[in-house]
Amino acid sequence: MQRIKNYIDGELIAPHLGDYIENIIPATGEVYSLIPDSDEDDLTLAVYAAEQAQDKWANTSTEQRAKILCDLADLIDANADKLALAEAIDNGKPISLAKDVDIYRSAANIRFFAHAGTQFSSESHAMEDIAINYTLRDPIGIVGCISPWNLPLYLFTWKIAPALAAGNVVIAKPSEITPMTAYLFSKLCIQAGLPAGVLNILHGTGPNIGAPLVSHPKIKAISFTGGTSTGAHIAKSTSGMFKKLSLELGGKNPTVVFADCDFDDMLETVVKAAFSNQGQICLCGSRIYIERPIYEQFKSAFVEKVEEIKIGDPLEKDTQHGALVSEDHMNKILSYIELAKSEGGKILTGGKQVHLEGRCAYGYFVAPTVIENLGNNCRTNQEEIFGPVCTIIPFDTDQQALELANGSQYGLASSIWTNDLKRAHRMAKNIEAGIVWINCWLLRDLRTPFGGTKSSGVGREGGLEALRFFTEPKNVCIKY
Ligand code: NDP
Repeated sequence: MQRIKNYIDGELIAPHLGDYIENIIPATGEVYSLIPDSDEDDLTLAVYAAEQAQDKWANTSTEQRAKILCDLADLIDANADKLALAEAIDNGKPISLAKDVDIYRSAANIRFFAHAGTQFSSESHAMEDIAINYTLRDPIGIVGCISPWNLPLYLFTWKIAPALAAGNVVIAKPSEITPMTAYLFSKLCIQAGLPAGVLNILHGTGPNIGAPLVSHPKIKAISFTGGTSTGAHIAKSTSGMFKKLSLELGGKNPTVVFADCDFDDMLETVVKAAFSNQGQICLCGSRIYIERPIYEQFKSAFVEKVEEIKIGDPLEKDTQHGALVSEDHMNKILSYIELAKSEGGKILTGGKQVHLEGRCAYGYFVAPTVIENLGNNCRTNQEEIFGPVCTIIPFDTDQQALELANGSQYGLASSIWTNDLKRAHRMAKNIEAGIVWINCWLLRDLRTPFGGTKSSGVGREGGLEALRFFTEPKNVCIKY
């Protein structure tokens, strides 16, 4: 059985205690590799390695850093098939999605921030004929990056690329549920010639390695993507330590469909918004509000289209809907479907586990599920389910649509469908979300600020926001 290794000081090494956790294929239920159950002693080694590498990397020219990062991005492209296969096996997502989205974006993330680092500039502020201020932006030092299981390599690279481009050294922890591509990535880092200690990857659980990483006094900033309760725990456990925190957390995103939209375009995208990656994207639109005159038309067309989604073995090219990431997660989704029924929800399609034949007979598959007849305030519509479950609700006025969309503790993303320009601007201005898509969903320009409001997080990633997060500004004022 393959044993995944930590990446510390430029080398692949076993956890010092020799303890491992089982890694399961969600499509089959089989154990297929072992993950280091790293702890504080492994972290001590990584912090030491990072400290040794810190000054040299910070003083490496941005061009040279960019070159190494671009070489790394090229290696991801060259190994795209292998990485996509690993992601599909580890996560349960369809292999076509893994290749076209996850692995493609992982290389794009690294290339983007490599170039962004060379374009990053600081501000200067002239005070008439009295003085001039300029702002230095230095790397922070050792930073921690913690990522979740839903887009494993994609979100892992989204964090470490800006951190490295800005001259920091990094200690990163991928999710224990999907460690494989981060492990393969560490081999590519060695191949690309990333200097030893600049990036260190520790595998293991939240409590055993995530928590010590977050509270380590020498790690000065934490970039975390994951659940809202874990984010709250990290904020609490670091309070008083004055670390920089970027917290990208959960979502329960509204999709608002007005009667004047382009129906076919809307339908195709709203299905994707609800069910891509088995609904396990923080940006998925799981609360769908439809203007009443087209509610019935939408309902029947939407259900018909959802029933066309091909559920199957993630490794088959034409599969559109793969396995959920784990048995625990599947059981959580199924329990939410039962909750929805007990709250008065009517299941229009799906609502159950899918039992495939052959290789995937013991996999964790749940059919895309559409529910109606639920009020906005019930738990089904308020709690993040993070799976292939969405609800549909009619509305009558713009104001009501806004109140429904904003009636959530979350504020990550939203998608609004209308051809009325004034309405689009009005909704965009008033909706409580960090990201608003008008007549689209998941259309991403990596230069834009990315992140949520309310319980969806604190801080923004993407573009210059990420480089600002990973640097420490210092103002210098010179009197004329
Ligand atoms: P979790 O919060 O459970 O875990 C995220 C990461 O944090 C994992 O690596 C996890 O390790 C680690 N972790 C767990 N406990 C701690 C701790 N005490 N200290 C430090 N690290 C810890 O999230 P999931 O992995 O379940 O991911 C799903 C969640 O992520 C959803 O809520 C989703 O909305 C959110 N998300 C948000 C995004 C955004 O951009 N806003 C994007 C993608 C997902 P381990 O896996 O070992 O438990």
